[in-house]
This record gives sequence, structure tokens and C-alpha cells, in this order.
Amino acid sequence: MTTVDGSAGQPPLNWCPSGDASRPESVVLGVRSGDGGEVVYLAEPVPAADVLGAVPAGIAPNRVLRFASHCVSECANRVGDACGLIERIRVVPEEAGADERSLPRCHLRPQCKWWNQVGVEGCRRCPAVVTLNPHDDELRVLVAGPDTTLEQVEEWMAAAE
Ligand code: SF4
Repeated sequence: MTTVDGSAGQPPLNWCPSGDASRPESVVLGVRSGDGGEVVYLAEPVPAADVLGAVPAGIAPNRVLRFASHCVSECANRVGDACGLIERIRVVPEEAGADERSLPRCHLRPQCKWWNQVGVEGCRRCPAVVTLNPHDDELRVLVAGPDTTLEQVEEWMAAAE
């Protein structure tokens, strides 16, 4: 089998779908589009290094693209072997009807940490995840914070009701 990182015959690595564009193995997962900036996924991975030079100066690459890179043990979001980020995202209720949407076609799925950890729910949440958080979106910033606990997200949701 050839994996997204070209490691034919090797066990698949877990890849982070909210990855770091600057890592050498980083690939473009998709393009953010439309008013909501939801991700439209690429059919094939494109090395991040091939496209970063085309992003206009002054625009953070993560504003327009989503990247995937290796899920690494030193990540601030790690909770044991699990990804704490997708667990915090799951605390926020999904939009009505979200469970009826078809899953995005995504080249990363066989090696995706979120898919391997939480299955279809990760894929339903994934298009709306942005890597840079506008500072005026309090809930988004809270969920993205590696030190945020699930209880803190739940408390925020309860206070907002
Ligand atoms: S969570 Fe699903 S849609 Fe997102 S990168 Fe992983 S496999 Fe693809």
C-alpha cells in the first residue's frame, strides 16, 4: 500500500488534519472557501512546500488553506495517545441535520488521526475547523486551547444557553 506520505509497505502513520504547514512532510488538505471558510478537500495531497510561496505576503497560509502533517507526541493537544482537540470540538453540539450530510471526499482518511479516533463524527466536524482562530470568537478560541478541559467547554456552553 502507498500511504499519503509515500511510505509504501510501512504501517500507516497517523496524520493530523489540522496540521502545521511548516513541517517538512506537510501537505495541503484543502482550501477554505465561501463565507464560512469551510474546507473543500483536495482529491490528492499536494506538498505544502509547493504552494506556500504562492500565498500572498501578509496572509497567513492557514487563513486560506488547511494542512495535514504528522500527529506527533510533542503536540500540545495530545492527551496520552489521543487528540484532545477533536475531543473538545465534540463537546460543542453539531448543527441540526449535520448527521445527515454526506462525508467529505478526503485523501487523508486512511491515515487520519481524527477518523481513527472518533470516526464519522470527526469528518462531520472537520470542514468547519479553522487553524487560526479569530480572537473575537470566544468559543472557538476556548476549544482550540490545548489547556482547555472538556468541563470548561461544557461550562461555556451551559452559560451561553
Ligand atoms: S477528519 Fe475526516 S474529513 Fe477531516 S481530514 Fe480526517 S478523514 Fe478527512
